[in-house]
Amino acid sequence: MPDILEDADRLCAKTGARLTPLRRRVLELVARANAPVKAYDLLSQIDRTNTSAKPPTVYRALDFLIDAGLVHRVEALNAFVACPQAGHGHAAMLYVCENCANVTEVQGARPGQDHKPDGFTVKRSVIEHYGLCANCL
Ligand SMILES: [Zn+2]
Ligand SMILES: [Zn+2]
Repeated sequence: MPDILEDADRLCAKTGARLTPLRRRVLELVARANAPVKAYDLLSQIDRTNTSAKPPTVYRALDFLIDAGLVHRVEALNAFVACPQAGHGHAAMLYVCENCANVTEVQGARPGQDHKPDGFTVKRSVIEHYGLCANCL
């Protein structure tokens, strides 16, 4: 888990993005969780430690982390997972267990790049696969 924060520092130093204390804290909470985290849960955890963190601030921090490639949004669960390989420039493939909600990330190829419309620039792609993990099978 500390690796994720170190990677984040390194990545942000490289790209010039600013990893503010709140963004760092949000990333830490997402990275520390064993399962996808809902924004709601992040808010309640941050509330206790930082009274100035209003919901919009936390949502903006999440947007920043997603844009920076540090966090992926699991669309169907409306929850967030930390990326184990910060800033990998290609699509994330998430394998979501429908029983325990465990999410495993595998680095994908570049889906979406081959068939994209002319002139379209892909900023990020997340592909979600649903099924049962090895523990639940
Ligand atoms: Zn990733
Ligand atoms: Zn499972």
